[in-house]
Amino acid sequence: MYGILTDDPELARTGPGEVTHFFAEYVDGTRNEPLEGAISSVSCWGDTKTVRDEPGRAAVAADGTRATPDAEGHHWGTVCPTDPDYRAAVLERIERLGATGDVRLTTLGFPGASFCHCDRCDREFEASDATDRTAWRTDVITDFVADAAARVSGELLATLYPDPYPGNLRERAGLDPEALTPHVSEFVVPLCGAGYGTTYWVESLARGFARELEDLDATFAIQLSTTDVDPDRLAGLTRQLDSHADTIVYGTYPETEAVVRDVIRSVGETEAPTPSA
Ligand SMILES: [Zn+2]
Repeated sequence: MYGILTDDPELARTGPGEVTHFFAEYVDGTRNEPLEGAISSVSCWGDTKTVRDEPGRAAVAADGTRATPDAEGHHWGTVCPTDPDYRAAVLERIERLGATGDVRLTTLGFPGASFCHCDRCDREFEASDATDRTAWRTDVITDFVADAAARVSGELLATLYPDPYPGNLRERAGLDPEALTPHVSEFVVPLCGAGYGTTYWVESLARGFARELEDLDATFAIQLSTTDVDPDRLAGLTRQLDSHADTIVYGTYPETEAVVRDVIRSVGETEAPTPSA
């Protein structure tokens, strides 16, 4: 199956593909009204606006680095996942969006292996019965996803950091696909790269995730970018990935819509014809 991810309401309504992911809440703090029939994409702890307004809410690394957009390796601000007021507010928004349809969670998890060491996280870890910090962080994220799932009437999708090496998702972000599966119907992995000058890494990561997720009761979607990509290259990449994923979702803008239409048509034409009823 093919679909699009967009923040353009018109494109979301009329665009190509069988499924549409619509940015209801983006990492910069932008919020859009949900669209009927589209999956609402919600940034959980990535929230540059909140971190700029209230830097004290940003997650803190063991060396004291705060998860701001200016910190090395961070492209947006990330709020500490145990901030109780922020957590409650995100869940409230998920409930509102989930009343109209499916919800996709993005920026899910801690923003790196050394986060979060704020005073509250240190206190909560010490008070927990978790065997180590990785187990505690994973419990924090899994509990949040379970609470989110209880508030969504449709399906809940979870975005994973693109690192399928066994154990890495837990260590990096507190994400454990097996623990999340009871609450989630699909995992989405962004494998985005401007132009896709090389594609071996995309195929390698896709294959790794397909293996990691194959025994879980959830489908697997790959998100690709469309900026500055030759349509033939993107169609070729899609064919390479087709056997690994259930769905390919293209990050689409009005200016790249034609490319996405071409790609979906092209891969459709090369698929084995299905017998007509
Ligand atoms: Zn914290």
